[in-house]
Amino acid sequence: MDKGTGKKIIIPDYIKTALLALESRGFKAYLVGGCVRDFLLGKQPSDFDITTDALPRQTKSCFAEYEVLTNGIKHGTVAPIIEHKAVEITTFRTDGGYSDNRHPDKVEFTARLKDDLSRRDFTVNAIAYSEQEGIIDLFGGTEDIKKKTIRCVGEADRRFGEDALRILRALRFAAALSFEIEKETGNSIKKNIALLKNVSAERTYGEFIKLLQGDNASEILLSFPCLCQTLFGISLNGRQRAALKKAKTAEERLAIVFIYSSAELLKCLKPDNKTYNRLSDNIKNYRLRLTEKSLGVKEQELFIFENGLDYESAETMLRLKELMGTALDINRFKACLEYSKANAHPIKISELDITGNDLKQIGIKGKKIKLTQELLLKSVIEGKVKNEKKELLKLL
Ligand code: ATP
Ligand code: MG
Repeated sequence: MDKGTGKKIIIPDYIKTALLALESRGFKAYLVGGCVRDFLLGKQPSDFDITTDALPRQTKSCFAEYEVLTNGIKHGTVAPIIEHKAVEITTFRTDGGYSDNRHPDKVEFTARLKDDLSRRDFTVNAIAYSEQEGIIDLFGGTEDIKKKTIRCVGEADRRFGEDALRILRALRFAAALSFEIEKETGNSIKKNIALLKNVSAERTYGEFIKLLQGDNASEILLSFPCLCQTLFGISLNGRQRAALKKAKTAEERLAIVFIYSSAELLKCLKPDNKTYNRLSDNIKNYRLRLTEKSLGVKEQELFIFENGLDYESAETMLRLKELMGTALDINRFKACLEYSKANAHPIKISELDITGNDLKQIGIKGKKIKLTQELLLKSVIEGKVKNEKKELLKLL
């Protein structure tokens, strides 16, 4: 039990096994980092990191009867597989100099927990815990968790200078945990934002996406406009800022940031194809002009079909127009869309009650098949014919 908060820390058995294997051989072993932070926040952690004074080869020998992964051994991490799960155990370490603003030049092992905790990024991530000693908090992390604050361990300028990934991590944690960024840390982020150029595209993208998914993401993007400016050269205007305040999902936030630009700009972060394609479609669809003419169930269904949308992308389009405040009569549009969807009105060729094969069988060939399907779907949408094979065939 942690005396400070009265919260019970529930440690799964496979982690207890790992801690015991080290402790029973006279080594110190603590849970550390995200798992302790999450416990104190009342959340069940997703992964558990152990820190120990055992040197990597000593750690390895504590788990002689287990398979042990050693790919991280140079940095002090070995990972025995216990109950089919890899348990990461890292020797207390300090990081040597950082000449590239990203990677330590060398890693040194230390016998002192304090040294290990002081190399960690934020106070809330620098808390250790063991059953015997309880919470070990040397940098005020527990207090910062209570105050919902992200604060660097030590001097912010130096810590961001050592490893610029921490800039993104600070913003990401603040977005995901709905924490404030402490003043000195925040000012230092703004001052050092250009260092992000030293972080790989993959790591930057990973953190940026996690940031966008956070409940507090919009506030962070708005409080740190330097982020989108530095990553993409994008400055958010008033409309985008207002839209971000109302946005609810990562997809909406991403689209709003890029709404006046091109999805191409995201390519510098090597995005996954699915995210990139959706962003690109969302921007393109947002720019489609909805006019009074498309104000009606049939008209809107035709609009959806003719622009190659489906119900989901049409909804996103309306949502973005609503957020940006750029549609004429958004509630009418939305009501029509709801009606079409609820009644499962066909808007795609695949939803016609007649297939390409059916058309082939009656002698229609090549390009004419698709053209015929398009004409038939239009007739169905316009209410000229029922979406029934028998009826559709009569038109041919
Ligand atoms: P998450 O919930 O994303 O897993 P986490 O805090 O566990 O959050 P990890 O990336 O798993 O983050 O890192 C584990 C711990 O290692 C952190 O809590 C922090 O103490 C330390 N750490 C990770 N990355 C850095 C870094 N770039 N600089 C300093 N310390 C770091
Ligand atoms: Mg973690």
